[in-house]
Amino acid sequence: MHLAVFGGTFDPPHNGHLALCLFARELLEIDRMIISVSNNPFKQNREAGDFHRKHMAELLSSEINRVGSCCEVSGWELEKQQPSYTVDLLRYLNARYPSDRLTLLVGEDSFREFSSWKEYEQLFLLCGIVVFRRSSKEMDGLPRPPSNIQNWREAIRFIDFAYLVSSTEVRELAGAGKSISRLVPASVHRYINRHALYR
Ligand code: ATP
Repeated sequence: MHLAVFGGTFDPPHNGHLALCLFARELLEIDRMIISVSNNPFKQNREAGDFHRKHMAELLSSEINRVGSCCEVSGWELEKQQPSYTVDLLRYLNARYPSDRLTLLVGEDSFREFSSWKEYEQLFLLCGIVVFRRSSKEMDGLPRPPSNIQNWREAIRFIDFAYLVSSTEVRELAGAGKSISRLVPASVHRYINRHALYR
């Protein structure tokens, strides 16, 4: 089984997350996809609480499962009630699904911070890494795997994916009372309205 993990704060989930997951599932032939809602130690100014973020991630997962069931949400990182780290999540998933091939899906923005992640060198040993890039031209400034990884171009796969939407933009538009309906899945939009989030 090919197991992929896609982590984020999902504050809120948006159509970029949805498109990335659907694209990845088809392109990479993923059998099981885990959306992991995190307490990102680099993002301290979250605006929606853990409960809401997890619920919205479940709505995202339902949208993905509308066309082929493979996705589930993990709250494992949230349950730790402390800053969570990808390396710990990957170790947990490797222990839970020992016979699966594990791939980490990550956007270029997050990948640029990779070398500051806890035990980042271990990540290359624990899973395959697929980076969704805004532009295939600029390789400058992208983190490189440690030198004991012989061929880093094989350790990481880069996929072009230019879809300029972010949770920050959604929060800012909602906060300014502007429409976000084109940026988030309909179910997430309804949830944000119902709970008056980001106002
Ligand atoms: P924020 O604006 O609050 O920083 P975000 O839009 O980056 O949030 P996250 O939940 O932090 O959303 O992201 C989860 C993952 O999705 C990360 O790997 C991030 O790089 C990736 N990602 C988010 N938006 C996009 C996008 N438009 N294209 C490609 N990857 C994305």
